[in-house]
Amino acid sequence: MKNTSKLVLTLTVMASFAFIKPKHSEPKKINIVIDAGHGGDDFGATSDAITEKHIVAQVTKKIKSLNSNVVIHFTRDEDNFLSLKDRTDFINKLKPDLVLSLHVNSSLNNETSGLEFYVAKETEFFEKSNEIAEKLIDKFATCKNLKISTVKTGPFYILKKSDVPAVIVELGYLTNENDKKYLIDENEQNKMAKSISEFISEMK
Ligand SMILES: [Zn+2]
Repeated sequence: MKNTSKLVLTLTVMASFAFIKPKHSEPKKINIVIDAGHGGDDFGATSDAITEKHIVAQVTKKIKSLNSNVVIHFTRDEDNFLSLKDRTDFINKLKPDLVLSLHVNSSLNNETSGLEFYVAKETEFFEKSNEIAEKLIDKFATCKNLKISTVKTGPFYILKKSDVPAVIVELGYLTNENDKKYLIDENEQNKMAKSISEFISEMK
């Protein structure tokens, strides 16, 4: 081998080592997607001038402003319309550790109230999602004025089509007077955001 070829080989070997990760690399960061439901022309549940899309955007903004040691991604930052497919395409490209999709409920029965947590049976991530939802419910126990359900199942698109654990959080019923009061209350929104933020920052 000529000396120049030796040099080229040595440099090539050195260069390739430069890309090998050090053994004691940082622990893997947890990645979370917060999906604020609806947006743009899709208002979601409405009551007078109050809209679901606006409430979930406000809570999402509050989660964003809270410090967290996890990486949080958002399906929408603005009041724009995104189809359910747009959302799951984004999620499946990113492959986060968890998706939390935030919504507000409505019912023909105005007595129906409280927070609800949904996971889908129709996915291989059902058990993991269920486990996460149960822990998340515990975090909301500090929101004393709210009725909190046990984990429910529903074949919702975002839950079925996300290739990662996913939970829908229905923050309350806009059709119930008591729920509506806390859903639009700044302090109550802060508490909800804090519960979610604390939960995700403790994820491993
Ligand atoms: Zn919704």
